[in-house]
Amino acid sequence: MDIIDQIEAIVGKSGLLIGGDVSARPLNWMGIGARQAKAIVRPKSTEEVSIILKICNQAKQSIIPLGGLTGLVQGTNSGPDDIVLSLERMNAVESIDATGMTAVVQAGTVLQKLHEEVEKQGLLFPLDLGARGSCTIGGNIATNAGGNQVLRYGMMREQVLGLEVVLADGTILSSMNALLKNNTGYDLKHLFIGAEGTLGIVTRAVLRLRPKPASKNTALIACDNFNQVSGLLRLMGEQIGGNLTAFEVMWQEHFKLLTDETKRHTPPLPTHHAYYVIVEQDGANAELDTKQFQNALELAADKKMLSDAVLAQSKAQAQAIWNIREDIEGLVMPLMPGAVFDVSLPIAEMESYISGLKSALEQEWGDKARLVVFGHLGDCNLHLVVSVGDGEETTIKAINKIVYQPLQAINGSVSAEHGIGIEKKPYLALSRSAEELNLMRVVKSSLDPNNIMNPNKVFNLV
Ligand code: FAD
Repeated sequence: MDIIDQIEAIVGKSGLLIGGDVSARPLNWMGIGARQAKAIVRPKSTEEVSIILKICNQAKQSIIPLGGLTGLVQGTNSGPDDIVLSLERMNAVESIDATGMTAVVQAGTVLQKLHEEVEKQGLLFPLDLGARGSCTIGGNIATNAGGNQVLRYGMMREQVLGLEVVLADGTILSSMNALLKNNTGYDLKHLFIGAEGTLGIVTRAVLRLRPKPASKNTALIACDNFNQVSGLLRLMGEQIGGNLTAFEVMWQEHFKLLTDETKRHTPPLPTHHAYYVIVEQDGANAELDTKQFQNALELAADKKMLSDAVLAQSKAQAQAIWNIREDIEGLVMPLMPGAVFDVSLPIAEMESYISGLKSALEQEWGDKARLVVFGHLGDCNLHLVVSVGDGEETTIKAINKIVYQPLQAINGSVSAEHGIGIEKKPYLALSRSAEELNLMRVVKSSLDPNNIMNPNKVFNLV
C-alpha cells in the first residue's frame, strides 16, 4: 500500500490534506507562499502520531512538524517530497491542577487559549509573546520560546515540568512529570525543548503555572543615552526586585517608524528621544505595588536615569504602549525587502555593537541602509531589522555577515529565542563550538538514524 493510503487508514479522510488543500496553506505566518508537501497529516492522538512515525521511519519518509506557523527561521519549510505533520487537531487543555499549579496540555493548543483557561482559575501561564493568538504550545516548546516576561519567569524551558514526545521510530516517550523537583537520572525532556522538531514530535506537556498577579503597573520611559537605559534596568531591579516582569527597549528609529512615520500608533511620549523603555511590574497588592513603582520611577528621575515617562493609568493605556512594541507586521512591512535578526549579547556591549553595525551598513549601502533595533533588553536579547533597498541573496548574505560576525568576539549568540531553522544554519558555528556541534550530530543520529525528523533544519547531519 502507498504510504499516503497507509496514513489515511489511520487518520481518516478528514485527517489528511493533499493536492490543492496543501497548496492553499501558506508557507509562513504572513500568509506568503504556497506550501508544498506530499500531504499534510492531522492526527488526533499520540497513538496516531506514533503509528504515522513508525510507517514513515520504515519508508525513510521525511516529516516536518507544524504548529502555529509563527516561527521566524523557516523551520517549518517543506518540499514536495515531505509529509507535514500538523498538531492542529490535538488542541485540548486536558486538565488544570489548581493546587499543584500545573496544566496538562496537548501540543497543538494555541498559547492564548491556555492563558484564558488558566486565568479562569485565578492562575497564570507566564510565557507570553506577540504571536500568542496563533503560536502553539508544541511550537513554543520546540523553539524554547522567550517573549515578554522572561526576566521574571524564564523561557519556555523553565515552564515545562513534563513532556510526552513521539520519537522517529514511533516510540512514545512519556515523561509527564508534574513535580517541581525530580532528580532521577538524565532529565530527557530538555533534549526536545529547543530541538525545533529535529528529534521527535512533542505531543503533550505538563506545564508549570503561577498565581495570577493581583496588580500590574506599566510605564513607558524615554532615555537619551544608553547609560540611562542600563542604569534604569539596574535601578528598577533593585527597587522592584522579583516583581520586575518586563524591560523592553525600542530604539528611536523603531518608535518613530510605528508612530510618526506610519501613523499606526499615537506616541504616548514625544518622539525625539534616543530610547523608549517599557517597564512592567506584576505584584500581589495593587496599592503597595503602585506606590513602589512610582517611587522607583521618581528615584530614576532624581538620579537622571530617565528623561521623560508616562505611567499607564488603565489597562487600555498599558495595551496601547504594548501595541507599539508588538506591532511586528507594521514594523516589517515598510522595511521589506530586508532581513530580521534575533541576537543575544552582553548589555555592556550593546551600544558599541549597534553603532558598529550602523557604520558598517552605511559604509556599504550609504543612506539606503536602515537599521531598526528593539527587543527584550533585560534578557540581553535584541531584535534588528535591516533594510538596504534590495533583497537579493548576495545582499542578504552580506548583511548577515555584518550582523553575525562581530558577535563571536563578544560572546554573543546568533539566536536568542527564534532558533536556527534553515535561515541561521550557516552561522550556527559562530555560537557553538565544533565539539558541541559534533555532540548534537551524535544525539540526532542516535535518536533519528534515518534522519526523517525535520531533516536539514538547525544543521545538516552529513
Ligand atoms: P511553528 O512556527 O509551527 O514551528 C516552529 C518550529 O517548531 C518548527 O521547526 C517546527 O517544525 C517545530 N514544531 C512545531 N510544533 C512542534 C511539535 N509539536 N513537536 C516538535 N516540533 C514542533 N518567539 C519568541 O521566542 N519570543 C517572542 O517574543 C516572539 N515574538 C513573536 C512575535 C510575532 C508577531 C511572531 C510572528 C513570532 C514571534 N516569535 C517569538 C516566534 C514564534 O512565535 C515562536 O517561535 C513560537 O514559539 C513558534 O510556535 P508555533 O506553534 O507557531 O511553531
